[in-house]
Amino acid sequence: MTTVAVTGAAGFIGSHLCEALLARGDRVVGIDCFDDFYDPAIKRANLANCTPHEDFRLIEADIRDRDAMNAALADGVDAVVHLAARAGVRPSIEQPVLYTDVNVNGTVVMLEAARQAGIQRFVFASSSSVYGNNPKVPFAETDRVDDPISPYAATKKAGELLCHTYAHLFAMNITCLRFFTVYGPRQRPDLAIHKFARLMRAGQPIPVFGDGSTSRDYTYVADTVDGVLRALDRCSRYHIYNLGESEPVTLSDLIAALETALDKKAVIDRRPMQPGDVTRTFADTALARRELGYNPGTGLADGLQRFTAWLD
Ligand code: NAD
Repeated sequence: MTTVAVTGAAGFIGSHLCEALLARGDRVVGIDCFDDFYDPAIKRANLANCTPHEDFRLIEADIRDRDAMNAALADGVDAVVHLAARAGVRPSIEQPVLYTDVNVNGTVVMLEAARQAGIQRFVFASSSSVYGNNPKVPFAETDRVDDPISPYAATKKAGELLCHTYAHLFAMNITCLRFFTVYGPRQRPDLAIHKFARLMRAGQPIPVFGDGSTSRDYTYVADTVDGVLRALDRCSRYHIYNLGESEPVTLSDLIAALETALDKKAVIDRRPMQPGDVTRTFADTALARRELGYNPGTGLADGLQRFTAWLD
């Protein structure tokens, strides 16, 4: 039986991943500090299906706590999926020191604890934000990613560099996964789809930054989790993969799709573009398809239906 430690287990993606690991028969050590980036009660609810499971163990601790992380990984853990982070572009501009502390220092603590425990497989949650405003699309893993435009993006690039260093120095098998705007049930409340849906249902205006032409490669959470499992099972040497849908959607089209899913007209509160926000994301998924067998299949309309069904 494989034991997988998942940091950020109580979060949006982490809770889905823990469920998927348990469903296939793995043992899971979930690590989360239930920080206040959004209501910790939501995170406890996210774990409702996991906590009763006999193969799930929750460790409430901060990834920056070296003793706690050494202890968490010391006992028969075979692999680590490191998802815990301060997420979000805009708040990282307000709190760059906190973001760097959690996302960069926290990642070194996890890598170091894994190394000391002799753990061979490590998967790191990176982000499409590392591509910044690269003009070439779709974004490919071989593209230059030296121009982040937010502290958050810089911390994810730094995390990838640290992962490379550990893979090189200690022959650990490490895979960095660049997630592209993940959505679905339990999505973080700060993200556009979730925020817009709640406001629209309440008949309130939605804040739309820019003219609606920015685009995102929205990825349904089950597709992302499938990609994480595939990467975990095939973790060897050092790799980076895009996990996107490869179907960018403009903000205006997203709002139209939400109007359909909710059967409700949006009231637009037009605002200027926000610093740190990239104009578009668009994943080239050829490498992940070829090497991982990644095959995302959930279209936006279908994914939004499942999201709004959860919201009810
Ligand atoms: P989330 O905020 O829902 O989950 C993150 C979890 O990490 C939370 O439960 C939080 O309590 C925990 N955490 C934060 N700091 C911690 C610390 N110091 N110690 C222990 N636990 C801590 O976010 P998410 O959307 O599920 O994102 C998961 C990962 O994927 C993050 O690394 C994020 O940067 C990355 N990512 C997400 C998206 C997306 O669209 N959701 C896109 C790109 C990358």
